[in-house]
Amino acid sequence: MNRAERLAWLRETDPRRLEALWAEADDVRRRHVGDAVHLRGLIEFSNRCGRGCLYCGLRRGRAGLARYRMALGEIVACARTAGELGMGTVVLQSGEDPSMPAAWLADVIAAVKTETRGAVTLSVGERPAEDYALWRRAGADRYLLRFETSNRDLYARLHPDAADGLDGRLAALHALRDLGYEVGSGVMVGLPGQTFDDLADDLALFEQLGLHMVGIGPYIAHPASPLAALPAAAGAVSGTELMASKMVALTRLVLPDANIPATTALATIDPAAGRVHGLERGANVIMPNVTPAARKALYEIYPSKAGVTVDAADAVADVRRSLDALGRTVGVGRGDSPAMARRRLSPPVTEEVSP
Ligand code: SAH
Repeated sequence: MNRAERLAWLRETDPRRLEALWAEADDVRRRHVGDAVHLRGLIEFSNRCGRGCLYCGLRRGRAGLARYRMALGEIVACARTAGELGMGTVVLQSGEDPSMPAAWLADVIAAVKTETRGAVTLSVGERPAEDYALWRRAGADRYLLRFETSNRDLYARLHPDAADGLDGRLAALHALRDLGYEVGSGVMVGLPGQTFDDLADDLALFEQLGLHMVGIGPYIAHPASPLAALPAAAGAVSGTELMASKMVALTRLVLPDANIPATTALATIDPAAGRVHGLERGANVIMPNVTPAARKALYEIYPSKAGVTVDAADAVADVRRSLDALGRTVGVGRGDSPAMARRRLSPPVTEEVSP
């Protein structure tokens, strides 16, 4: 599918015509990654953050938000819960906290690996390359770092303290890949000022980076963030469930064997249908939250996050029920990226990235 066709789908609003896109994405998903849906236990271990990203509710200096960093023992207990609930991966996510010692997180990774024997995914923002290397040696398998938008100007506006802008983010993704991580990235859909062309560029960049995992969610305004005060620009895309679904479907077509989650943001913007639509339109992963309730409530990147009041066991039971209803199964084991497994057998490819 060429760029013009992708753009046409991004602009399409007729539900009957969109059925063809959903069907194609679902078919490609089934043929390339199958019916198993892998569950990743999400542990939001710290909401401390040194960054001032304009969209995020955890941004540095936000008044009135109590900050926490869970202790190693508490994180390991969450990981144990995830394992007991049948999840073969835990995702350790936090704000970007330069005061978090890299060696401490290495200890956490090693302890979690010993406890669960499953895969460990990190999502802790940009750090010096030696930290990525240390954590890899400690046993981390995967790294999630969204580039958020491929539009350089928009990226720079949204991330006032990212000295190297989008290039810094792309360099981090390359460093992670060179260290042997499975690499995930992704974007928000409906950022103020984002255009259809930007979304087409995002898809091209997913492809160019050869991502193993892609996370896509609608942008949800946080009233305590500076971006919420901005009026929506004319001609910009909206952060609807439909727009985000279209990006999920097109991402499946662009990267047929990537692991693609039906994200929490998708479930938040449309509690009734968001997650099911994601799974029917290309997604093959779900990330149930296993963070203790009192912590989870403080990990407020956007308001009314889905699942904040739901207990981990209930969340997983609910996921199993909806997978049953969809005729899908729960993935067994770590659910490693098929793209990664193939790459291990062939010499690494170097690609030029210039969006
Ligand atoms: N500090 C880590 C984890 C950030 S939270 C990092 O920077 O990688 C994970 C993702 O949540 C972000 O990458 C971003 O895409 C998304 N996010 C942040 N604020 C959001 C908002 N207001 N609406 C929707 N998604 C948001």
